Amino acid sequence: MEHIPDIFGIDVFTEDQMKQRLSADVYNKWRSCIQSGTPLELSTANEIAEAMKNWAVEKGATHYTHWFQPMTGITAGKHEAFIEPTENGKVILSFSGKSLVSGEPDASSFPNGGLRATFEARGYTAWDPTAYAFVRDGSLYIPTCFFSYNGAALDKKTPLLRSIREVSREAVRILRLFGDDKTQKVIPCVGAEQEYFLLPKTMYAQREDLRLTGRTLFGAVPPKGQELDDHYYGSIRNRVSQFMQDLDDKLWRLGILSKTKHNEAAPCQHELAPIYTDVNSACDDNQLMMQIMKKVAAKHDLVCLLHEKPFYGVNGSGKHNNWSLATDTGRNLFSPGNTPSQNAQFLVFLAAFISGIDKYQELLRASVAGAGNDHRLGACEAPPAIISIFLGDELDAIVKSIIEGTDYTEAKKSVLRIGVDILPEIPRDTTDRNRTSPLAFTGNKFEFRMVGASQSIAEPNIILNTIMAEELWIFADELEQAADFDAALQNLVYKAFKNHHRILFNGNGYSDTWAKEAKIRGLSNLATTADALSAYLKKENIHLVTKRNIFTKEEFHARYEIYMDSYRKTISIEAKTAVDMALHQILPAALAYTKSLCETASVKAAFNAKASAEISLIQTLSETTDNLYTKCVALQDNLASIPEDLEESVRYCQNIIVSQMGSIRADADLLEKLTAKSYWPYPTYSDLLFY
Ligand code: ADP
Ligand code: MG
Repeated sequence: MEHIPDIFGIDVFTEDQMKQRLSADVYNKWRSCIQSGTPLELSTANEIAEAMKNWAVEKGATHYTHWFQPMTGITAGKHEAFIEPTENGKVILSFSGKSLVSGEPDASSFPNGGLRATFEARGYTAWDPTAYAFVRDGSLYIPTCFFSYNGAALDKKTPLLRSIREVSREAVRILRLFGDDKTQKVIPCVGAEQEYFLLPKTMYAQREDLRLTGRTLFGAVPPKGQELDDHYYGSIRNRVSQFMQDLDDKLWRLGILSKTKHNEAAPCQHELAPIYTDVNSACDDNQLMMQIMKKVAAKHDLVCLLHEKPFYGVNGSGKHNNWSLATDTGRNLFSPGNTPSQNAQFLVFLAAFISGIDKYQELLRASVAGAGNDHRLGACEAPPAIISIFLGDELDAIVKSIIEGTDYTEAKKSVLRIGVDILPEIPRDTTDRNRTSPLAFTGNKFEFRMVGASQSIAEPNIILNTIMAEELWIFADELEQAADFDAALQNLVYKAFKNHHRILFNGNGYSDTWAKEAKIRGLSNLATTADALSAYLKKENIHLVTKRNIFTKEEFHARYEIYMDSYRKTISIEAKTAVDMALHQILPAALAYTKSLCETASVKAAFNAKASAEISLIQTLSETTDNLYTKCVALQDNLASIPEDLEESVRYCQNIIVSQMGSIRADADLLEKLTAKSYWPYPTYSDLLFY
């Protein structure tokens, strides 16, 4: 392998490249555009475009594409060649500032939730100069925002950028109050750990459910699962290891800080964690990473599954979204400091986070809602659907002492007064890791573990940033006007902890007792997508996102419609696939086997030989195939009568279709157990997971 530092970021048009290839004047204009958000003049854009094109062509690019993140949760872009005809019938390669800065893809085939009238199919893309362009597969990729004719966001990047701006501004206001006059920007930082499964392509190809829905709709649980804990951190098999090396190479070239790789808990499950970076890049990188994982897997005759629950009975896949706030001077605002003022400032950010999460817990839950994640949240392997925060014993004790006004340390005999007395140094990593918490404080960041493996991390980060911006705004307003800063601070933090400590929970999030206790505490437990998405309709949430200028009312509602629609479509595809497999693969296999049993039994009868095994099997098989067939017919009928109305249809899918699929699966899985292996039409769980 080549020297890693030499290849790292080699396919990215980095700041270094710009410095080398742009005139000082243009480079400085680009810098100030990034710093202050001022728009670029066309002449500046022209020079950047020319330099970008020359660099890309040197790297073998023939095309450019405005790369955007529509509401499908994945990325899109059309590829345009750099060619321009000349008078002598030849072509030159050209790329103008206008083509760099904006594009006009047809928006009619992307989900828009009613934001784009059908007669106005045009969508627009606008260059995001805060993210680097890169070259991949012969195209120059330009990260862009995607919006409609009248400026409504049709993507995930636009609101993310808005939320970054909001939280930065409000955080800087707080920092000023603590005497920091250097920080110009506060940047949300994210490290997203990605879980995935790898399967042999040949086996995947034989399963219609995996191909069409990304998960197994059928499959009897094999004799062995993950109970021996023999996969987690285990030695990585050769083929997978080669895949991982190849993947790292591709990611490093694109400047993605792929750092940690290991086997996960379930058989065939793995994880990749990059080093954290600013949230905008982290989102772009995660999208790229998911795509590259799939491509590289194919090269190694593997298939990468990013579905939240590919297999029943073993762990599903999530994405741990590690989130923190850092100043542009490099300070982490969730790092408890050593001096009183640092500590007080830390407590302000902590208090804002706690009160915001408590107030908008439903919105955060909604940000990770989806058909795939419904299998994970609440299934005793991933965090429950209830949002709570794990602080660890040390911080918990500090919060308690502030609420109760009692001594933090008995020995010191001093009441904790923020900003006045010294908060004892908070030892790091004293707390046990709590794997059952959806939102855990891990020393200097919060790890949000509810995100599904296939989901874009944009949505949850938009919400985290927005919630934080809102609370910091409230805090800053109050503190800026205070006559006695220390007293106001003490009161503010006290009030936040006192009013919102119900969201703090250090215990076992998987236990039934927690669900009961959470209910008594008044915390929401939105177990399904339909329940969770109703957060988009609540007045307080609409008020929050519109007031903070993250979404217009229309944009926010459009998201609700898109996610609801996506849920019902997903369920209906799954149900149709289930019926198809049941009628055309499972039933024929079970019937063929039944027939052979019948033949054996009748031959045996001629010899007066005992055939009780055959007869018993025939009876159970017949009963189960009958049941399966009847249920498939019923499901087909029900699929034909899904209500038109969006909300009704989602409820109908959730309450009727999903449970019918479960019932069909129970019969199918029983048939799999009864039928001879040679008759079974596709690879079983043990074939797939223990190849
Ligand atoms: P784990 O045990 O959960 O794997 P790690 O310490 O390996 O924990 O970190 C997991 C992720 O958190 C990595 O992507 C890492 O870069 C990221 N991370 C570390 N510090 C921060 C931070 N201050 N802000 C955001 N993410 C961070
Ligand atoms: Mg983690």
